[in-house]
Amino acid sequence: MIAVEGISKRFGDYTALDDVSIEVPDGSLTALLGPSGSGKSTLLRIIGGLESPDSGRVLIHGEDATSVPPQRREIGFVFQHYAAFKHMTVRDNVAFGLTIRKQPKVQIAERVDELLRIVGLAGYAKRYPNQLSGGQRQRMALARALAVEPRVLLLDEPFGALDAKVRAELREWLRRLHDEVHVTTLLVTHDQEEAMSIADHIAVMDNARIEQFGSPRELYDEPSNPFVMGFLGPVS
Ligand code: ATP
Ligand code: MG
Repeated sequence: MIAVEGISKRFGDYTALDDVSIEVPDGSLTALLGPSGSGKSTLLRIIGGLESPDSGRVLIHGEDATSVPPQRREIGFVFQHYAAFKHMTVRDNVAFGLTIRKQPKVQIAERVDELLRIVGLAGYAKRYPNQLSGGQRQRMALARALAVEPRVLLLDEPFGALDAKVRAELREWLRRLHDEVHVTTLLVTHDQEEAMSIADHIAVMDNARIEQFGSPRELYDEPSNPFVMGFLGPVS
C-alpha cells in the first residue's frame, strides 16, 4: 500500500498540494483524476521521491519513504514523453535496469522475453525505439519500468501524447497487464473516461486537494460534491 499523509507543497506563494492524504490499496490500479493544474503530477512526483513535500509523509508498504531517494523506493515510472535509449534495441532498453544490477544473462533474457510478451512486443526485440509507433514505445516503457519488479508503478499521462484510438488500445493493454502482474499502480490522467474504464479506485483532485476517493461506481452513484459530479458526469 502507498499511503500519503497530510502532504502539503508550495511553489513560492502558490499552493500545489494542500494537506493531501490518500491510501492506495495494494495491487490496485488507482487513477489520480483531475483538471490541469490540480496537483496530480506534483503528488505523483512526491510519491516517487522526485520532489520533496513541505510537510507530511509518504509510506510505501508501511515504511516511511519520505526521505528515501527515488532509486531506492523500488518504483517504476512512465511519463508522457518517455526517454528511451535511442542507440539501444528494444530488448536492451527493457533489460537496462536488470543489466545495471548485474543479474545473470540467462535470467535477464528470460525476464525480458516474458515482459515483451506481456506488452505484445515479442517480435520487436531487435528493433530500435525510433522504429516503433508511439503506442509501441509506451508499451516498451511499461515493460522497462516493470523489469526490475517494482513494488509500485507510477504512470503520469503515459498515453497523453497519442491519438484517441491508440489511447483506447493502450488502456486495454494496461488493464490486462495489471491483471497479469498485479503491481500497485497509480495512473495520473485528466481523462475521466480513461479513469472510469480501467481504474478500480479513483482519487478526484481539484485545486490542490483530493475531493473524493472511491471506486468508479461509488463516485458515479454518490459524488460527494458538485465538482465531482460535474467532472465525472455521465460518460458520453
Ligand atoms: P496537468 O494535468 O496540466 O499535468 P497537474 O494536475 O499535473 O496538471 P501539477 O503539475 O501537479 O498539475 O501542478 C500543480 C500546480 O503547481 C500548477 O499550477 C503548476 O503551475 C504548479 N507547479 C508545479 N510544479 C511547479 C514548479 N516546479 N514550480 C512552480 N510551480 C509549479
Ligand atoms: Mg501533470
